[in-house]
Amino acid sequence: MVRHMANPLTPDVLVDPVVLTRTLVDIESVSRNEKVIADYVQDVLKQAPHLTSDRHGNTVMARTDLGREQRVVLAGHLDTVPINNNFPSTVVDDLIYGCGASDMKSGVALALHLVATLPDPGYDITFLFYEAEEIDSQYNGLNLVSQEHPEWLLADFAVLLEPTYGVVEAGCQGTLRALIRTSGRRAHTARAWRGVNAIHAAGPVLRRLEDYRPRTVTIDGCTYREGLSAVRIAGGVAGNVVPDECTVEVNLRFAPDRTEKQALEHVHEVFKGFDVELTDSAAGALPGLNAAPAREFLTAVGAEAAAKLGWTDVARFAALGIPALNYGPGDPLLAHAPDEHVEIGKIRDGAATLHRWLAAP
Ligand SMILES: [Zn+2]
Repeated sequence: MVRHMANPLTPDVLVDPVVLTRTLVDIESVSRNEKVIADYVQDVLKQAPHLTSDRHGNTVMARTDLGREQRVVLAGHLDTVPINNNFPSTVVDDLIYGCGASDMKSGVALALHLVATLPDPGYDITFLFYEAEEIDSQYNGLNLVSQEHPEWLLADFAVLLEPTYGVVEAGCQGTLRALIRTSGRRAHTARAWRGVNAIHAAGPVLRRLEDYRPRTVTIDGCTYREGLSAVRIAGGVAGNVVPDECTVEVNLRFAPDRTEKQALEHVHEVFKGFDVELTDSAAGALPGLNAAPAREFLTAVGAEAAAKLGWTDVARFAALGIPALNYGPGDPLLAHAPDEHVEIGKIRDGAATLHRWLAAP
C-alpha cells in the first residue's frame, strides 16, 4: 500500500508520453535492479480494467482479450546499462538527457502511455515489460519468458520499442562464429625444413577472406549486407619452434534468408579443405512485413522499413514464428553513451503513430 502511494506513474504522468519518459528515467533500473520499476509498472497494469496481467521475476505482462482477429505484442526492456553521471534526468531545450532516455525508457513510455489511453484498441495487445536485456542472455526476461511462458509471446506481430530514431527496422541478421584450424609439424627453427609451419598454412585462409565477396540480399524491401570477418588469430609455440597449429576465428553476419545450418554450410564451402569448428551461432529473423498488422503499421508510420543489421531480441519472436520489428523514438547511436538523450519531438511522433496504428486497423 505504501508502495502504491509512492508510485510516481500517476494518471497525470501516464497521459503525457514526454513527462512519462522523464519519470521512467528517474526510476533507477540498472540490470538486475529492476524490482522497483517492475512493481510500479505492474501497479499501472493492474489498475487498467481492460487488461489482465502476470509477472515472472521482474518481467511483467498484460494483455487485452477483446476477441479481435489479430494480436500484436508491444515489448520493451526495463533495465539500463550502469549510470554514468547521467542520473537523474535533465531537460535542455527539446532534449531529455539521462541514463536510458534513448535505450529504451522513451520506448517503454510509448507502451505505458497506450496502456493508459487506449482501452479499446483495434487489435488485441500484449504488453511485455522485461528485465535484463543489457546483460548476458541467461538473465534476459524475454528469453526466460520464451522458455517458461511461451504463450505470453504468442501473437501475429510484435514491435520492440528499441531505439531506431523513428525508423522501422525489420528483421535482423544472424551471426555465426567458427574456428578455421591449420596444422603442421613442430621442429626447431634452426632446421625449419624438418617441420611444417601451421601459421604459414593459414595464409590461404586469410586470402579467402580477403577475396570474399559478401552477398547483399533484399527481402520485403529491406537490404541486408552480409559480412565475413576474421576476428582473432592464434598460433605459435616459442620463439624458436616451427608451430604445429594455427586458428583463425571468423564471424559471419548472415542475412535472414539463410538458416543457421545453411550459414554453417556456407562457411564450410568458403574454407573447403580446412578444418572448420563451429563455436557459436544465433539465427537471424525475417522481416515478415507481409503480415497484415505489419503492413498497417508501415502505413501508420508512413515510411519504408530498413534492414536491421545487428542481432536483436526480435529473433526471439522469429524463433516462435512471429514476425517482429524494432521501432522506437530513441537514437541508437546514443544508446549506452554518457550523454544519452532523446528528442521530445520523436516521443510525440512515436506516440501519435502508435495511436494511429492501434486505434483503427
Ligand atoms: Zn535496448
